[in-house]
Amino acid sequence: MTIPTASIPPAASPAPMTYRCPADGTRAPVESLAWHCPTCGGPWDLDFTPASPVPLNSLTARVNSLWRYEEALPLAGPAAGVTLGEGRTPLIPLTDSISAKLDFLMPTLSFKDRGAVMLAELARRLGPGRVARVVADSSGNAGTAIAAYCARARLPCTVYVPEATSPKKTEQIRAHGAHVTLIPGDREATAVAARTAAGEPGTFYASHVHNPYFLHGTKTYVYELWEDLGGRLPDAVVVPAGNGTLLLGAWLAIGELHAQGLITGRPALIAVQAKAVSPLAAAFRAGAQDLPGDAPHRTPPTLAEGIAIPRPPRAAQILRAVRESGGTFLTVTEDQLRAAQLDLAARGLFVEPTGVACWAAMSAHPPQEGRTAVVPLCGAGAKTGLAAR
Ligand SMILES: [Zn+2]
Repeated sequence: MTIPTASIPPAASPAPMTYRCPADGTRAPVESLAWHCPTCGGPWDLDFTPASPVPLNSLTARVNSLWRYEEALPLAGPAAGVTLGEGRTPLIPLTDSISAKLDFLMPTLSFKDRGAVMLAELARRLGPGRVARVVADSSGNAGTAIAAYCARARLPCTVYVPEATSPKKTEQIRAHGAHVTLIPGDREATAVAARTAAGEPGTFYASHVHNPYFLHGTKTYVYELWEDLGGRLPDAVVVPAGNGTLLLGAWLAIGELHAQGLITGRPALIAVQAKAVSPLAAAFRAGAQDLPGDAPHRTPPTLAEGIAIPRPPRAAQILRAVRESGGTFLTVTEDQLRAAQLDLAARGLFVEPTGVACWAAMSAHPPQEGRTAVVPLCGAGAKTGLAAR
């Protein structure tokens, strides 16, 4: 089968960009394909500040995808090419004070498309001379999103998943043309296998955790809120917190909009974890700047498997962002997750258990009188079905 590629313009060279380690300041050119800081092993930030503000009043004439915020994106330009029409998800009221942004209505049915499109476009622009293949590791939505966007960009892709991953998930990854490598053992063993492969020449590690371009994609979640609310943001932006990819993207966008004078105040970030796996909430309550060095690698099971991350590499950044925003952490029980999924389904919205966590939290802790909050519904219920009762 031949898939036409004419809809994707030729790749422009990426503007020269530099990765910078937030912990020790180490730098590396993006072209080096270095996927983490060689000094400390931590994730990169990107040395990037938008050159000009996004013009609110001229957005309506623009392309209907997240590429419409081109001033804010490190890969913007006339050749911005890879897209499946991601973004521009609806914002609907759930109560007088809480609205939901329906990010499960994405091309691969989760918010991860926001970051995956950026990684695929970056790999494409780095060019076949540098990038022979893309690798990713995920047992869930990120792997699916990377596989789909690599298919769109015509990039060879390998996704490492734990051996126990459900066949339904691996089927979709394979259907997108990606190679699936099953790794015996747990999620950590899978990550180790992917990182080993990432060290091979010509390999682009499309890590949604370590690569900061992913965060510059997820930040469009907040740019869309800002556009939809006529140049304002809600009082609270409620986000799930596992690896913090949506949280840190939101914090990036809030910082950019505030620095450019496009918003007056900064909303509070309300971060939500499953009570069963809540290392960040515990560290926040303890006043810690980072997770303790002896934080466990293994966690009890939770319905919110997408945010069941015992040792998120960006923990220090997540804790700092929530504190600087004046926000807080909330945790939700398994019973609250089940109830929230049923409640949303009864309102016409079928969302996977991880994706209902923020609504579960705000149902129990609604905003104060006169304040507003937005919760993301992050992934489609069709991906997982209804949580067992
Ligand atoms: Zn470092």
